[in-house]
Amino acid sequence: MSIAANLHQIQTTIPENVTLVAVSKTKPVSDLMQAYQAGQRIFGENKIQEMTKKWEQMPKDIQWHMIGHVQTNKVKYMAEYVSLIHGVDSLKLLQEINKQATKHNRIIDCLLQIYIAEEESKFGLDESELNEILNSTEYKSLQNIRVVGLMGMATFTENKTQIRKEFQYLKSLFDKYKQPSTNNRQLTILSMGMSGDYQLAIECGSTMVRIGSSIFGGR
Ligand SMILES: *Cc1c(COP(=O)(O)O)cnc(C)c1O
Repeated sequence: MSIAANLHQIQTTIPENVTLVAVSKTKPVSDLMQAYQAGQRIFGENKIQEMTKKWEQMPKDIQWHMIGHVQTNKVKYMAEYVSLIHGVDSLKLLQEINKQATKHNRIIDCLLQIYIAEEESKFGLDESELNEILNSTEYKSLQNIRVVGLMGMATFTENKTQIRKEFQYLKSLFDKYKQPSTNNRQLTILSMGMSGDYQLAIECGSTMVRIGSSIFGGR
């Protein structure tokens, strides 16, 4: 099937309140343009340099989401245009994003990445670290970032019970930390679900799915 057909097919299976991020990492601009022409406006990339090149070449009404692990020293390359950073996993990183956002006189929306998988390799905060960040005076003083939700990646497994358990855990944290809502803390987005598990994620309360291979093919 074509990229446009894949996109339309996926869109029919996603409820209206769930946002689709088309994960286009490693794919050429020509592939992204096919998705763009089919109406897609939100793209997810996991490398800042690659995302920036694509941003330079593509229409300016696209929202670019950084879904990968972010190195502090590279925030400056995307601060001008990035629309949402999914993988924020430290106060230090939030502070750097705040600093770079200030230079561009804007507020950058971020998701805090929570570690929910059983794999060693995945990044993210545990609950006590999440709690510590949200309640720190340093965080509360940041005026050019806004934490708008949480993000997580389930274990890469066929075991649906395991995946469901992890998504339900993330949803429970989301509900628990939704309040209080302040200027820079407005949790409305729960980013969970990829090609293999997005339907399960939606059942568990996801409001944003990040889908790559089911749209663009294997990498
Ligand atoms: C690559 C990636 C995705 C998309 O994965 P697919 O299985 O291709 O849909 C989603 N989220 C993150 C963080 C990724 O790195």
